[in-house]
Amino acid sequence: MIGLPGTAPEADTCSRAGCRESATWRVDWRNPRIHDETRTKTWLACDEHVDYLRDFLASRSFPVAVERFGAQEAGA
Ligand SMILES: [Zn+2]
Repeated sequence: MIGLPGTAPEADTCSRAGCRESATWRVDWRNPRIHDETRTKTWLACDEHVDYLRDFLASRSFPVAVERFGAQEAGA
């Protein structure tokens, strides 16, 4: 369904292609070549893929920030 990450988050499933797990992390990132500083994109990630997605972006020297996602962590 999703060939490459980069679309807006759908519901709360992991953004990793082919993964249908519920997201527990959000990955906010920006491509400095095509986005200005006010424009960020958000991927959602499950526990298994958060490192993959973060490393994917970090390896391209994109600014990336990872935060807990989901109501179950609210107030933790
Ligand atoms: Zn996943």
